[in-house]
Formats: sequence, C-alpha cells, structure tokens
Amino acid sequence: MLLGFMGAGKSTIGAEVAERLGRPFLDVDDEVERAEGPIWKLFQERGESAFRELEARFLREGAARGESSVIAVGGGAVETHDLLARLDALKVHLDVDVDTAWARVQGSRRPLAQDEAEFRSRYERRQPLYAEVADARATDADGVVLAAGGVSISSSADDPVGRPGSYEIVADDGVLGLHEPPFDGPVHTVSAGEAAKTTATAERLWRDFRLDRGGTLVAFGGGCTTDVGGFVAATYLRGIDWIAVPTTLVGQVDAAIGGKTAINLPEGKNLVGAFHWPVRTVIDPNYLATLPEEQRREGLAEVVKTGLLSGESLWELRDDELVRRSASYKTALCLRDPYDRGVRKLLNLGHTFAHALETGSDGAVTHGRAVALGLLAALRLSGRPTDVIEETLAPQPVRADRERAWEALKRDKKWIGGDLHLILLGDEGGYTASVSEPDVRRALDELIAD
Ligand code: NAD
Repeated sequence: MLLGFMGAGKSTIGAEVAERLGRPFLDVDDEVERAEGPIWKLFQERGESAFRELEARFLREGAARGESSVIAVGGGAVETHDLLARLDALKVHLDVDVDTAWARVQGSRRPLAQDEAEFRSRYERRQPLYAEVADARATDADGVVLAAGGVSISSSADDPVGRPGSYEIVADDGVLGLHEPPFDGPVHTVSAGEAAKTTATAERLWRDFRLDRGGTLVAFGGGCTTDVGGFVAATYLRGIDWIAVPTTLVGQVDAAIGGKTAINLPEGKNLVGAFHWPVRTVIDPNYLATLPEEQRREGLAEVVKTGLLSGESLWELRDDELVRRSASYKTALCLRDPYDRGVRKLLNLGHTFAHALETGSDGAVTHGRAVALGLLAALRLSGRPTDVIEETLAPQPVRADRERAWEALKRDKKWIGGDLHLILLGDEGGYTASVSEPDVRRALDELIAD
C-alpha cells in the first residue's frame, strides 16, 4: 500500500511496482472517480468529508482483496481517519520534497493544490503522520519493491536496526575482524567461504543456539554465511525468523535476497536447503570498502547479468546505487516467483554454461569467472554484441576438461528432444529458447582454453 503526499507519484510508481511484481494495481482516487465522477467536483458539491468516506470505503474493499494488490492511497487518508493504521498491509511512504510535489501539481484541478502556502503547510503537517503509520519509506519504484521484499539499504552505522526479541548472530570469522555486526547478541563464528556450508557447521549451530521460537538469527557475512545461517534458521525449532546482513557484493545483489538457503554435501553444492525468506535483509554498501578486488569481480558478474536482463547499464553506477538497483531487480522476480517455478529462472542467464565450467575445472574456475564466460556464451547464442561483457568482466577462456564440462552440461535437466532450453537475451530482456546440441557444444568449447 502506497501512502504519500499529492505529487509523490503514487499512481505512476504504484502501476510500475504492480507490473514488476505481477500484481493487480488499485488506485483509490481512480475508484472514487469511476464511481462518483471527478474528485474536484465531489469536493465542491459534497465537501471533503464525503470524499473521505468514499475513500475509506474503497480502501477497505481494496485491502480486503488480500495482500496481493498494490494499492495507491490518496494523500489525505492518513490525516482524517485511523483506518490505515488498522489495515493489515505493508504500508510504504512514498516520499517527495515539497518543491517537487508543488511543481508537479500546481495548475491542476486538485482541490487541495490551489493555494501554494496552504499546500506547503499541509505538507508539513502530514509528513510526521506518514512516518508514523508507514512501515517503510521509499522515493521510487525500486525502493517500494525493496520494501515489499523486506530489504533495506542503509548505512547500518547511521541507522541501527532493531526488532523486539533476542538475537543470536552467525558471523563469518574474517568479516568480524573488519566490521561490527549491526545487532547485539551472542556471536557464533563460522569459517570463511564454502567451508561454512556443511552439515557439521549446521549441527554445531543447532546445538549451540539458545534462542526460543520468538528469537531471531542474524547472518552476517557473504553468501556462504547467509546460506548456512538461513538454512539453520529454516530448520532450528522447525523454523525461526532470520535477518540477512550481507557483506559481499554477491551477497548484497544476489545471495541474501529471495529466501533460498542451503548447505553443501560431498556429492555437490547446495544439495540440502530450504526456501526461508529472511524477515529483513539489511544491506550496507559501506561494507564493500574492505572487499578484495577478486571478490568484487565475483559480484560484478551478477550485476552485469542483472543489467543485461533489466536493460540498464547497472555496472556503470556508484556502488550504493548499483547495489540498490540490482537488489531491487532480484527482489521483484523473487516476489513474483518465490519458489523458483517460473519467471525467476531468468536469473539463470549464463549460469548453465557457468556450472559446466565449474565442474569441468573441479572448482578451479570461480563462480564469478564462470558466470562471466557463461554470459559471453549466452550473448553469442542470442546473436547480440558481447562488448559489455568484455569491457566490464574481461573473461578469458579457462582451463577445464572439455569432456567433463560437456558431460555436466548434458546432465542438465533442461534438454528436451535433443535441444537445450536456455535463457537467452532479446530486445525485451530474457526469454527461454531451445538451442540445438551442436550449437551448445560449440558455444561451450569457445569458453575453454586449449
Ligand atoms: P563468501 O561468503 O565465501 O565470501 C567471500 C569471501 O569474502 C570470504 O573469504 C569472506 O570472508 C570475505 N568477505 C566477506 N565480506 C567481506 C568484507 N566486507 N570485506 C572483506 N572480506 C569479506 O562468498 P560470496 O561470494 O559472498 O557467496 C558465495 C556463496 O553464495 C556460494 O556458496 C553460493 O552458492 C551462494 N549463493 C547463494 C545464492 C542464494 O540465492 N541463496 C545466490 C548466489 C550465491
């Protein structure tokens, strides 16, 4: 539910958010107009209180349709009745500065935007009310999507996050030497990297934890820490709340978003896991300042993939904005498809080849390097220029066992009747295409050094 002052863009941004989340959009003002005619006329003939009654009725009806709609609420609803506070829906304050708001509405027939001084004093009066009733604040569609997924982007030092109840922290040993977790509670350390994603680590955490069912696990580290922390949260006491605090670029744009949690088995990566969405993901791009360059490149491959899918040059943005926009893109797809049965598969762009290269090199090729090469193959098969990949990720053919990589690719579940169903890139973003075996083989071979 979007709240905010006149001119904040609730209708435009609400419609955009609804489209990105694949949900119906309801604009309460439009509903009132459809039923009773223009709002300015309603104000003139029957007064503001008649409008507020109608607004409350459409709002109640909209909210009763369930949480799956995106609802834009008139700017004044917050001032005249406490209905909003009682409605069980996520409320996001779509914030705007008063000058922008006035520039957008002056000269319109909006009844409460006829006099500038009155407009400005109304704005001052309402700002604290929005803050009081809203669960989150946003200034654009990306911000609303992030709020809907429980993701906040902030400097945790400036903006300590708190929820009632107790916390226990699962933290990457190495990260603890560099940064303080933004929550207080007993700390359980885990090793850096894949060594954390084991049944032994999970068992130690299950046995050391003292939280009751009302407690919250906080996972503080890269994708490995949030994967194992989330998995322990999904299973301990049949599931407790958890908060992800990702500290790597991979974590902030990918691993800590969307609720997939996992540990590895000797037989393979991520073979045991659960879907368990964190109650919050707290992203502080400042953590990235200490990230070694090679770790940054791992994450950059996912940023480039996201930018290709969304059609925006996300990789050119400053860290905080690059993280925010990439995280928002993934959040929207995951909210649309929480259990990875449909549209979320677009995120596999380049990944089928990447997994084959990782297997064919016995893990010597890192995931990020493999994704960079996988993106190259996907773009070549899509018949699209590859300069973005070359300029930003500079992938070079890698040493890998051709036959083992090919066998790994042949085991992929997406072969149907001799063709591989792959995510490719078109003018409108990602789509599933079927590619013949010789073409797939040729594309894989080009990624491997002689
Ligand atoms: P990682 O967690 O191993 O972190 C990489 C390294 O960076 C570690 O050595 C860590 O100690 C160090 N590090 C972390 N934060 C740092 C910081 N701020 N400054 C300096 N060093 C820091 O690896 P990753 O790349 O973050 O994540 C990879 C894992 O994520 C894989 O296991 C992968 O399967 C998983 N993953 C999961 C999902 C998902 O949807 N659940 C998605 C993508 C990846």
